[in-house]
Amino acid sequence: MEEIILASANPHKIEEIYAILKDFDYKILSLDDAGLGDLDIIEDGDTFEANSLIKAKTVYEKTGKPAIGDDSGLMVDCLNGEPGVYSARYSGEDKNYKANNEKLLSNMAGVPKEKRNAKFVTVITLMFSPEDILVARGEVHGTIGTELKGTNGFGYDPLFTVPSLGKTFAEMDSEEKNSMSHRANALVQLKSLLEERKA
Ligand code: IMP
Repeated sequence: MEEIILASANPHKIEEIYAILKDFDYKILSLDDAGLGDLDIIEDGDTFEANSLIKAKTVYEKTGKPAIGDDSGLMVDCLNGEPGVYSARYSGEDKNYKANNEKLLSNMAGVPKEKRNAKFVTVITLMFSPEDILVARGEVHGTIGTELKGTNGFGYDPLFTVPSLGKTFAEMDSEEKNSMSHRANALVQLKSLLEERKA
């Protein structure tokens, strides 16, 4: 079975990616499984595409094995796409979710409801070799609330509202969120790219 290394130590991501890729004959290894637990990848790209490629390429170059990199974030229309690639460290290098949400609310103070549109984006890059690279992108559109709602999930979930359902990601259980999330949409696209590649 061909091994693919996921450039992440996040067990939730590994599980989600594994669930989608289980129809293919791949064994998904985490960085730890691949003996790269200490690897520090500098994500200094300007786009989600660039950062996901940096992650996949770093691991591919270290191991010579196919590697997956992913990068996600929140883009808010009235902030010209911020926090974007800086989503994790919006309020500082300590990657504090609470402080990030507070900064977002304060930067959007006074912005009326109809101008609070935003989207979550995920880009997944699967590098089989430098000549054989698949890039999948998933998005989910919503609005940013004026107060935190819900306690599930992580990051900006308590502020990200799905208008058709009238609730935030943090008010959904993981099954509901994963049925519509940016990551899920990117994984569905990755699956069809893999099917095309196989055909
Ligand atoms: P990552 O690239 O998936 O690690 O995401 C980078 C940052 O984007 C996270 O630290 C969060 O701040 C934000 N983010 C990404 N996906 C989500 C999500 O599903 N919910 C809330 N915040 C997210």
